[in-house]
Amino acid sequence: MAKKIKKAPGWLGLSEDRTSFVYIPERAEIVRQIFELSIAGLGGYTIAKLLNSKKVPAFGTSKRWDQSTIHNMLSSRATIGEYQRKQTIEGKEHPVGDPEPGYYPPVIQESLFQAAQEARQRNLAIGRGRKGRLITNLFAGLTTCAYCNSPVKFHSNGNSKSLICKSVVERTGCIRFGWSYGDFENSFFEFLNCGVLPGFIEQLVKLRNSEQEKSQDDIYTTRAEISRIVKAGILKLTIATAGVPPPSSQTNGSIRRDHPNRCFTAVFADGSSRVGYPVVLPQVKPNLHFNSIELSKSLLLTPRQGALTTLLAQGDTLTIAAEKLGMTLATARWHLREIFKKTNTHSQVDLVRLAETTFPPEAS
Ligand SMILES: [Zn+2]
Repeated sequence: MAKKIKKAPGWLGLSEDRTSFVYIPERAEIVRQIFELSIAGLGGYTIAKLLNSKKVPAFGTSKRWDQSTIHNMLSSRATIGEYQRKQTIEGKEHPVGDPEPGYYPPVIQESLFQAAQEARQRNLAIGRGRKGRLITNLFAGLTTCAYCNSPVKFHSNGNSKSLICKSVVERTGCIRFGWSYGDFENSFFEFLNCGVLPGFIEQLVKLRNSEQEKSQDDIYTTRAEISRIVKAGILKLTIATAGVPPPSSQTNGSIRRDHPNRCFTAVFADGSSRVGYPVVLPQVKPNLHFNSIELSKSLLLTPRQGALTTLLAQGDTLTIAAEKLGMTLATARWHLREIFKKTNTHSQVDLVRLAETTFPPEAS
């Protein structure tokens, strides 16, 4: 008669006669997701919090996930089917004999396991696993400098938070420009607001709602989820803080921020890449009203382009302006590029400034 099994890992079940393990597809799927979240750069604390917020049932008697369960799972070779006999000597576990591969039904592939081990070591090395850092900067570990290929780091100086090339911070060279973090994040959100990354728009809507309700917990979990989506869908994010090509800059000069020509390039998981530009933040400008026809005439724009410029100048985001004009975001972007060319501007901020100075708005 087969020997009875005392204990199975949380993600496996036991047959009724307790002689063999049972593979449970839903649990295997949860294990796989936990490994992927870890590879995307999320720490154990964040992963546990995400699972709890999504009401994913934990495997043990406790209904909730915690950091240590996640850590144990991520380091357990039982997930790839391996068993290691252990002996407890003076309260400490010691491995006995060789590991036995194929002892358990594997729930993930060995390549996924390896990738997670590497990601965790990287995260530990740069301290990314810690809660605060991940949430202040959604792009930690993902951004590189367009000029020198150094990492672009999150840099906080009192209330001013920016993304700055590591060489600039360390005064070893590069162009001394930075990009205000809030402006970059908003520009990047607007850039992704066309559905290119699955699940992103839903999370963005959720984030805006939780910001309005000032729910710290929801803000935290949605930002963590956004960071995961971004890191899973984007392979490389290159930042040109002063545009391409950049102006020359003295190695010892002060760091200037938010150059009008700044832009970034995202390389997506499918290998395609796209360039993004700063956007005008949605601002409350309730009483501004531009005359679209006059604006089009004086800036030599088509009526559609004049209408788009007007809406942007009145504080709409590109997404909202496109919606109001009944055009797709891609079309709106195309028009925007044409408008930039015709008006010799390089960003929405520039364009709005131009509209404001050449055509002071009428109060309505
Ligand atoms: Zn640089």
